Amino acid sequence: MTSQPPSVIALGQPTVGEPELRAIAEVFRSGWIAGNGPTGMRFAEEFARVAGTAHALPVTNCTAALHLAVAALGAGPGDEVVVADYTFPATGHAVVFTGATPVFADVRPDTATVDPAAVEAAVTERTVGIIAVDALGQCADYTELQAVADARGLWLVEDAACSAGATYQGRPAGSFGDAACFSFHGRKGITAGEGGALTTDRDDVAAQARKTHAFGIESALARSGSADLPIPEFDEIGWNYKLSDVAAAIMLAQLERLPGLVAARQAVADAYGELLGDLELVDLPVTVPDRTHSWQSYVVTLDPSVSRGAVARELRSRGVQCNIGTYASHLQPVYGATTPCPVSADLFRRHLAIPMHANLTEAEVERVATTLRDAVMTSR
Ligand SMILES: *Cc1c(COP(=O)(O)O)cnc(C)c1O
Repeated sequence: MTSQPPSVIALGQPTVGEPELRAIAEVFRSGWIAGNGPTGMRFAEEFARVAGTAHALPVTNCTAALHLAVAALGAGPGDEVVVADYTFPATGHAVVFTGATPVFADVRPDTATVDPAAVEAAVTERTVGIIAVDALGQCADYTELQAVADARGLWLVEDAACSAGATYQGRPAGSFGDAACFSFHGRKGITAGEGGALTTDRDDVAAQARKTHAFGIESALARSGSADLPIPEFDEIGWNYKLSDVAAAIMLAQLERLPGLVAARQAVADAYGELLGDLELVDLPVTVPDRTHSWQSYVVTLDPSVSRGAVARELRSRGVQCNIGTYASHLQPVYGATTPCPVSADLFRRHLAIPMHANLTEAEVERVATTLRDAVMTSR
């Protein structure tokens, strides 16, 4: 008898199926599949409820949401925006889109979220705003960050790309600062393949983002309510960042699943905690007591004596996918950053993401834990 090669355990996986297929069929029958239609409006209302904000604007992706937010808040050439260093570099890119300069601030070693003291130290007379990141699915320190923003007269944006379903001091992710930006990319907790949303309590930010996400004019749906022949006027340049109503339909189905998906991921995190808690040379992720995690990623920190490359090779050869945590932005040559962020640089070298999604079985979680244990033992 020959042994079968082990099946591959995916690092991440969307949870999609019949409800999403039914939603797609329904939106097809409705006749409106472009963006800014009735299904998109319904999704916007539902999503604002989930984020606990007055407004939600569905957009093509989180990078677009960040661009709209930073632009609506007025950043431009000559301005500096303090950005959490440890993030997918879309956060820094969005600042560059507006002509402003991202200034990266270092992060907490335990949560990888931006260190409010580092933010404060990075502020200059050119600083106009702060972008914090809910790193790997855990909210940043919004009480402290809002205090820094208020004291210095700065705006604050929450990059909530990874944190749909997470909470901070009892409030949902997406409800902090002047605006928040979500991602519905296939690797995030809820997904339409690609997609995003901007949430805000500020009427002015919502109105400006709504206008500039659709070329700089009022939406086709708003115009279609008028009796005569309305001719919109272009008085400002905007982008085309509208989420299609097909994607919005998928997102409505995903929103119904959100509490269950977060609970499933929490159960996986709890199981990893039990199976790996005693493993030497590996630190498990920390959840601060005043917040709940969405577990977009489960990222462990390897001791410096462990070769991450060797651990990754061993995991992959045994059918367990893995990856880095995320990026140290200041080390990406495109930004030409000169100020070091040593904690972020260290996490960038030592973090290892192991499989985390809502479809993992108990047996798979056990296999990941056993394989990681073996890999760490043999990789020094
Ligand atoms: C994924 C991600 C983004 C980009 O999201 P898109 O929807 O792919 O544009 C931005 N910021 C963070 C923290 C992310 O993880």
